Parts: sequence; C-alpha cells; structure tokens
Amino acid sequence: MNSLYNLGSFKKRVKFLQKSQYWSEKKISSYQLSQLKKIFNHVKKNVPFYNEFFKKKNIRIEKLEDLRKFPIIDKKIIQKDYNQFLVKGVNKKKLIHRTTGGSTATPLTVWSDMNFQIKDKANTIHYMSVFNLNIFKDKSVRLYGDKIPKKLIEKKIYWKKEKNKLIMSCYHINRKTFRTYIKVLKNFKPKYIHTRASAIFPLAKYISEDNLNVNLNIKYIINDGEYLTLGQRTLIENSFNSKLINIYGHTEGALVGYPCNKTKKLHIMPQNGIIEILDKRGKKISKDGKKGEIVATGFNNYIFPLIRYKTGDIGVKSKNYCLCKRNYPMLTEVEGRIQDYIIDKKKNKIPLAPAIFNYNDMSWKGVQEFKILQKKIGIITVLLKLEQKSATEKKKLSKYIKLKIGQLLGKNFNVKTNVVEKLKKSKIGKYRYLDQKLKLNL
Ligand SMILES: [Zn+2]
Repeated sequence: MNSLYNLGSFKKRVKFLQKSQYWSEKKISSYQLSQLKKIFNHVKKNVPFYNEFFKKKNIRIEKLEDLRKFPIIDKKIIQKDYNQFLVKGVNKKKLIHRTTGGSTATPLTVWSDMNFQIKDKANTIHYMSVFNLNIFKDKSVRLYGDKIPKKLIEKKIYWKKEKNKLIMSCYHINRKTFRTYIKVLKNFKPKYIHTRASAIFPLAKYISEDNLNVNLNIKYIINDGEYLTLGQRTLIENSFNSKLINIYGHTEGALVGYPCNKTKKLHIMPQNGIIEILDKRGKKISKDGKKGEIVATGFNNYIFPLIRYKTGDIGVKSKNYCLCKRNYPMLTEVEGRIQDYIIDKKKNKIPLAPAIFNYNDMSWKGVQEFKILQKKIGIITVLLKLEQKSATEKKKLSKYIKLKIGQLLGKNFNVKTNVVEKLKKSKIGKYRYLDQKLKLNL
C-alpha cells in the first residue's frame, strides 16, 4: 500500500483536490455533472442492475437534478445479489474488498480497485492538509482497533512502533493500564491521534475521573468513522486539552466530510460524489437545520458503484456557506445512524447517545464498558461490565445507573440493568453502545 503514495496518479489527485477546493459553485456543479454523466454511461452499459433498469428507457442526464432518474438503493437491495452491482467481467479475487462493521446489522461488502484506493488515500492527505498535518512527516498515534502482537501483550506492551507512528491497542485500556498509556504518549510526543470516539473515550474518561492534568501537547485528535456526541467531544477535548476534528466518511467510501479552521460543521467534498438529504418519503430536504437521511452517490468507484445509496446516517442540513470560502455542501452535524435511536412507550424515536454521554448529569465511574439493548418498545436493558469487585458495590452501582438513565430518559422508558462479565465487540473492533433489535425506519 505504501507504494501507492509514490504513484503519479496519486500525486495528481492530491494536487487536484488542493486546487479544486476553492472552486466557485458554478464550477463545482459543472464538474459534478460531467462526473455524473460519466458514471451514468458506465453503469448503464457495464453494471447488471443499471443495465436492466435503464433498458428500454430513453433516459438522458442533462442536469444535476437528473440524478433523481436513478432509483434509490439500500444495503438490503445490494445484499440480495452483490453481482448485480459489480461491474461485468471482473475477477473478484483481483479486487480489494472491505466489509463494513456493526455488530447488529449484517455487514456490507464493498469491492474496489486501485483507482478507488488512490482517490480514497488522496482524500485523507487532503483533509489532513487543511489542518497543516502531514501523515509522512508528523509523529502520530493510531488508536483505532488494530491488534498488537500477542508476544508484546504478554509483556504488558500494548503498542508497537511503525516509522513515525505509534499504533496502540484500544482493547487494553482500563483503570489499571491507563496511566501507562499516558506515560507512553508523553514520551512519544505525537502531533495528533487518529482514533474513533469509542476507542479514545475510555482514556479520556479515566483522565477526567482522576482529575489529571496530562499536558500531552497533542494538537489534534482526529475522530473518523464513528458518530460523536457533544458530551463525548467535550470530555475528550478537555481531558487531552486538544482540538477534536470530526471526519465524516461512511464506510462505503462515497462521501467524505471535514470541518475547517473556522467551523466544526462538515464540508462534504464535491469532488468525490453528490450528497442528498432526504426525508422519509424520499423528498429532498432543502431547509437549513432540518434533518434527514444521507443518500450518497460516489464518483470514484467504477467497480462497485454506489448511486443514490441510503447510508442510514442522519444528517442535519446547514447553509452552504463557510468563512473558509469552500463552496461545499455543508452539514451542521451527523446525528448518528437510524439504528442508534431507541423507541419509547409512545413509539417516539429518541437519540440515545446524547442521554448516555451526558456527563453533567451522571457519572459512569466504576463502569468499564456498557451496552444498551432494546428488544421491545419502551424497554431498554443496560448491560454493565463493572470495575468493582464486591457484590454489594456492584449492586449499588447498577442501581445508580438504572436510576440516572431512568431520570434522563423520562417516564416513557422502563430501564433495566444487568451486570455481565464480558461484552462483545464487533469484528473490526468497533464498539457499538446500542444493540437495537427493533427494526427502525426514518
Ligand atoms: Zn470552512
């Protein structure tokens, strides 16, 4: 993979992203239209699903709005028959594939080729440059879900060095080890940490609980690939005394969004695809501040193209204007996934994260890990893995959590707690705090 960075096409793409970031709205639109036409001609001919769909229809793409002539697709449609979405005549074995995580939903496999990888990596280089970061030169820590060799773990070394990068295990952070993690961070002196909210959060939590002034001088913490609540952001930023950069990149790779030096809002890169925010009837949301489902059309994957793909992510639309002068589509925030909501007795959808990551009103001290399970409307069960050893202490803490969550969620929920010995992580190490067994729609 490293050789990818030496390719001429990679360097060209990075340059293109640098140059095109300040394009006018008009220029962006005309670029997007040309990309849309290109992918339309490609899928109509070469991808079975679209081949079939556009057959006998005399459809032409003449303006960006013509995107609506494509059907909306979702994970389920793709999973029914992957070959329908894969370009004809490719050898799957020669392709790169990536399976998206999540412990509850069935994972989706996305195939791609080197051309896609080049553009994907160029995006990373680009958004890092927005913050004056350089992945080749700057010292960094990766705390993301990588496995550390068993030999090291046995010696209580939960990290390994790779050039200017320190890769740390997120699986071994606990009350006993966290001070060692901090010591190692202090010695290594990284400029930034690349992580996902659930991986760095326990570390931030311990720092805050013990009121430590860690003084690590880490400029940025980059959260990527995981929804982040305001409560989590505040606690992470305060504990590390660093600025948090939240990157939106859904795992299927069609859209990338980043904040800038002027705002925390997300700028969705128009060079990679088209974002639509749709209501439950599939109608476009155009009012600022309104939320809807993010539907993605990617320009970069010609092997397994995703056009009008329902991501399951809920985005809040913002005015497309920023002081940084990028004329990009903007989102105030990504509020989480549809499956991250819980249903109360009156069948209202309630976002769970703001309640459980509300550190002003409750403390999770003594809780090593937790997971919330919903099987029935109006009832949630909090599974708790606790630090305390005595049964009385466990009982007391479990009662406290039940009371506090009950207060936060209100009387339309029946809250139960259950102390467990172990909690399962999903395959790629992503820790999902909610196991929503009910089927939800927007
Ligand atoms: Zn900006």
